[in-house]
Amino acid sequence: MTSIDKLIANTIREDVRAGHIYNVPDSSGYIKLDAMENPYQLPDALRAELAQRLADAVLNRYPVPSYSGIKERIRAKLGVPAGFDVILGNGSDEIISILCTATARQDKRAVVLAPIPAFVMFQRSAQFAGMDFVGVPLKADFSLDRAAMLAAIAEHKPSLVFLAYPNNPTGNLYDEADMVAIIEALGENGIVVADEAYHPFARTSFMDKLPQYPNLVVMRTLSKLGLAGIRLGYLAAAPALLEQFDKVRPPYNVNVLTQVVAEFALDHVEVLDEQAARLNEARTELAAAMAALPGVTVFPSSANFITLRVPDAEKTCAKLFAERVLIKNLSRMHELLANCIRVTVSTPEENSVFLNALKASLQA
Ligand SMILES: *Cc1c(COP(=O)(O)O)cnc(C)c1O
Repeated sequence: MTSIDKLIANTIREDVRAGHIYNVPDSSGYIKLDAMENPYQLPDALRAELAQRLADAVLNRYPVPSYSGIKERIRAKLGVPAGFDVILGNGSDEIISILCTATARQDKRAVVLAPIPAFVMFQRSAQFAGMDFVGVPLKADFSLDRAAMLAAIAEHKPSLVFLAYPNNPTGNLYDEADMVAIIEALGENGIVVADEAYHPFARTSFMDKLPQYPNLVVMRTLSKLGLAGIRLGYLAAAPALLEQFDKVRPPYNVNVLTQVVAEFALDHVEVLDEQAARLNEARTELAAAMAALPGVTVFPSSANFITLRVPDAEKTCAKLFAERVLIKNLSRMHELLANCIRVTVSTPEENSVFLNALKASLQA
């Protein structure tokens, strides 16, 4: 052992040493359909105006920590009920981490629970905060197993339950009555996080239920709407609860450039909404075209991606890679996802390159 190896063994947590870095493949030269990005940029005229705003940004000062400009726009434009507020994160990834940090109590076993397969950051953030993660398998059609969820809640008494609505990597919306049963079962003993990262595409939300359920919080992001590069997520909840989360939020976690772009984009949010509507139409077309292919099962999606089962996911991914199309092979994530792949809905041109390569991969 070298001295740096010894230093690592003596200082770094065992689970961190045994773990791996969140893998993001190099995508230069590829059609990138693996990360649920919006393929469209802002229109040229808006980009020119934004350039001017960015030129005027005050870069030598720390951000003004109240972030009132962004928060006001989110409350006004994104349906936050009266009496409720938001906190901001450097992406909703950071919000997940803040939620775990604030609930990882040391005086009793603290548990994060989520249906699986789910967004991987729920488990990773729970682990990094020193919490136990309990995953409850979905049913084969990716719907919530209500009885299993309620039984696991009674047994493990989670502080936090994450429900992605719609779910990633499956794309479906859970049944509203199942979600409400979970929220009610937790009551004063646990917080339910409705992760609405795909809200621009799903067009349905638990936001208007905040006043009804004190243990419900709603998390969203601007990433899937078309601003993945600026890293801005938000959490809507009762102010008293947000105050607790705000205590563990790193100060100045949203930078000045993000602030300028977010305020500008929210002032023109109808442009992004129109792009999302276009992508929803493309999703319907792409899903129908794929469903017509032999041996392919297309799962219903309310997000900007589609999950499908093919006869041989390895073969399909290899063919797509050879055609310089990046998608996600979900096969190894969970047994429910055997031979499943996930493709981001993109422009008509990119969708058709993908579809042709998919067809080619299905031939013997
Ligand atoms: C993409 C995604 C996120 C993370 O979004 P960021 O704001 O970019 O960190 C959160 N939850 C789900 C379910 C996602 O798919």
